[in-house]
Amino acid sequence: MFDEGSSNLRDLLGGKGADLAEMTRLELPIPPGMTVTTEVCNYYNSHNNKFPEGMEQEVLSKLKTVESRTGRIFGDPKNPLLLSIRSGAPISMPGMMDTVLNLGLNDQTVKGLIALTSNDRFAYDCFRRFVQMFGNVVLGVSGDKFESIIRRHKDELKVKLDVELDTKTLITIVQEFKQLIKQEKQQPFPDDPFAQLWMAIAAVFRSWNGKRAKIYRQANDIPDTLGTAVNIQSMAFGNIGSESGTGVCFTRNPSTGEPVLYGEFLMNAQGEDVVAGIRTPQPISQLAKELPHDYRRLVGLCALLEHHFKDMQDIEFTIENGTLYILQTRSGKRTAQAAIRIAVDMVREGLINKNQSLLRIQPTQIEQLLHRQIDPNYKQKPLATGLPASPGASTGRVIFDTDEAHRLGSSGVDVILVREETTPEDIHGMIAARGVLTSRGGMTSHAAVVARGMGKPAVVGCDEITIDATNELLVSGNVTVRKNEIITIDGTTGNVLLGIVPTVEPDLSDDARLLLSWADNVRRLKVRSNADTPEGAAMARTLGAEGIGLCRTERMFNAEDRLPIVQEMILSATDVERLQALEKLRPLQKGDFLQIFRKMHGLPVTIRLLDLPLHEFLPKYDDLTNKISALKANGGHAKSLNVEERMLRKVMTLMEHNPMLGHRGCRLAISHPEIYEMQAKAIIEAAIELEKEGLKVHPEIMLPLVGIVNEVKFLRNKIAAVADSVMESEGLKISYDVGTMIEVPRAAVTAGEIAQYADFFSFGTNDLTQATFAFSRDDAEAKFLKDYFDNKILTANPFEVLDRNGVGRLMRIAVEEGRGANRKLKIGICGEAGGEPSSVEFCHELGLDYVSCSPYRVPVARLVAAQSALHEKPITSGENR
Ligand code: PEP
Ligand code: MG
Repeated sequence: MFDEGSSNLRDLLGGKGADLAEMTRLELPIPPGMTVTTEVCNYYNSHNNKFPEGMEQEVLSKLKTVESRTGRIFGDPKNPLLLSIRSGAPISMPGMMDTVLNLGLNDQTVKGLIALTSNDRFAYDCFRRFVQMFGNVVLGVSGDKFESIIRRHKDELKVKLDVELDTKTLITIVQEFKQLIKQEKQQPFPDDPFAQLWMAIAAVFRSWNGKRAKIYRQANDIPDTLGTAVNIQSMAFGNIGSESGTGVCFTRNPSTGEPVLYGEFLMNAQGEDVVAGIRTPQPISQLAKELPHDYRRLVGLCALLEHHFKDMQDIEFTIENGTLYILQTRSGKRTAQAAIRIAVDMVREGLINKNQSLLRIQPTQIEQLLHRQIDPNYKQKPLATGLPASPGASTGRVIFDTDEAHRLGSSGVDVILVREETTPEDIHGMIAARGVLTSRGGMTSHAAVVARGMGKPAVVGCDEITIDATNELLVSGNVTVRKNEIITIDGTTGNVLLGIVPTVEPDLSDDARLLLSWADNVRRLKVRSNADTPEGAAMARTLGAEGIGLCRTERMFNAEDRLPIVQEMILSATDVERLQALEKLRPLQKGDFLQIFRKMHGLPVTIRLLDLPLHEFLPKYDDLTNKISALKANGGHAKSLNVEERMLRKVMTLMEHNPMLGHRGCRLAISHPEIYEMQAKAIIEAAIELEKEGLKVHPEIMLPLVGIVNEVKFLRNKIAAVADSVMESEGLKISYDVGTMIEVPRAAVTAGEIAQYADFFSFGTNDLTQATFAFSRDDAEAKFLKDYFDNKILTANPFEVLDRNGVGRLMRIAVEEGRGANRKLKIGICGEAGGEPSSVEFCHELGLDYVSCSPYRVPVARLVAAQSALHEKPITSGENR
């Protein structure tokens, strides 16, 4: 019985049952009833659709209590009790499972209902609804078939609304519904109310495994093992006449969070009419005019419920002949904006404390605040769906050529850059574009990482589209989109849509900033950002980053003014030539560091020395051979031919079978130490210059792709020698650290050795995941990870969500052995997982010092770091008000 339960029993009673029980205990006007527990559902579904022994007897005996409380008798032809049968899982799954109302009606009991209410139209309206719902939900007759019978009668009577159907017509409709059921199911509609009851309970249990429910559970990570409860409750009638009605209301506005009652109702109606959209419901404020007494009571009950559950409630109510009943209450679903406003307001109102408010916010809600969103009311089937690589929505002209995207984008045209995949050569096009769409590559592909870094929407690895760059078109199914046509990409969902789509503005409101400041007070993990431009650094700081955890310097080599010098360096025939080219690069690099240090003054900045293989800075082999053939065919200039051929020879020498495992990272510097020496010099010079201006700078120089302690020893010595000589010639000593990325498994398992020569470690989980799984980070997501998900071999993309058992294990070893060898070792993470909520939580558990992520994920990481800290200690109310 409802009065035997409480809201603590959600697992057993489901959310609806638990809250009905709680409300009954609070003596609110709840129609009496009982809950059949989720355990029964699990028994039923695992025992060939059989109820457990004794269940029926127990329901019947409790039904006696319901009968005595309502003064009506189930199945009695003179004084019938009618029931509602509603599902309710431990985690709310709105609309996913089945409900049957008005149960208990048949040709005899309907007469009793007429006698009780003196309202034959009402009684047949209930009967019509019941046969329709039962036929559809329990017996599986398609809803359209019932609707078409109703439609025919409405047409004959020339009326529009259900309420305009007269009693005689309703009686005919009931008969026709019964015939329809018999025809479709070769079984008569069950007249026995008890048979109806058992069949309805069983149908609710079966609906737990219905397609809708399964998909919803999968999408929301709800375990299949929970099961649903069934609530059997006496009916309250909102369709009994002009003093009756039904509605739904939220105790605060679920889209803005504004503290006003929000909702709608329909007079003379039952629950499903509100949702069905046949009649347009009225705003809840109108109820104040229609039934002022009930409205005042509703307002009072809403306040009481919100106060009791300490959260915004979504409440269903029915008014039967001027008496208000509450049928359901639950925590209301809300937008990100509303969630934050409500959490902050409730702290101000003293309803919850700050820690509780932090636990109320989903990390994805913070993420949503920072990106332009597609208007949630807009529904259009996507043209294609790829990986949601960088959140937010962008609309623009489809442009396939990077230079053209750059040109148009820079002149103010909204452009979506569409490529099979991007490389560092596409940077300028990406910067100028509103968003990026690629047909290949995964969540850590170049396009994904760079777009996230820029806070620019991106959909990557969208293999449903085929790109024909030569003819400048893309094809998805039977739709062709040509250059300059408009598309919208939604990097939050991975959807690609045709045309302009309405969007809503992003916002980190004052409330969000306040909430995040509370998060800062409780978290242990520091949050830094990955940034390699002054703008990125500034943005990161605004969003709360406490330093830069990864400044990738290869991007600084790719800038338009640098590339020719970099190529000159690569192509140089002698050491002297190479050093000359590097000398030209040094002031440019120093300029970069000066700007970034300035933006981050007072905070640490980790600069990673060059990681890219040199061939990435040269033109592609095919482009070169084409160019050379064309030059030859046109009798081209001998000098240009010579230059191109020299370039080609170098490209061929540098070509690698497997560049990701090739001559990159610190290996490049073992062969050419002068590159890192130039970078180290630029860093130390910049830091000294700013120190002289009085700014506080703390550079951390980071070596990529280390796997052997001797690599660190070798390079650290070179860096120290450069730094010493700069400091000596400048006459100023500054403090700086030298550390390594941990992104090669060997580095993780020999961390104890490496830590003796490193001041810090930073986990490069993009490479570490690639190497641990031996999954190419460029190909795995596009080629085969989907099959791994389909076959449940993997449940999450390890390039997105840190793989705790494998990669995480290596990290744990590295943390333990690294700290064991060097007590002062600072440890962070700078791979993409550094901004992913469950990975941030893991980093907290591992005891890292910081996570570093793209600027736009900094607020999320701040929240998750706080939530992780809070999960460690129980909350006591009143604390941290
Ligand atoms: C990594 O490997 O995790 C990393 C941060 O470096 P990159 O993505 O530049 O290889
Ligand atoms: Mg790496």
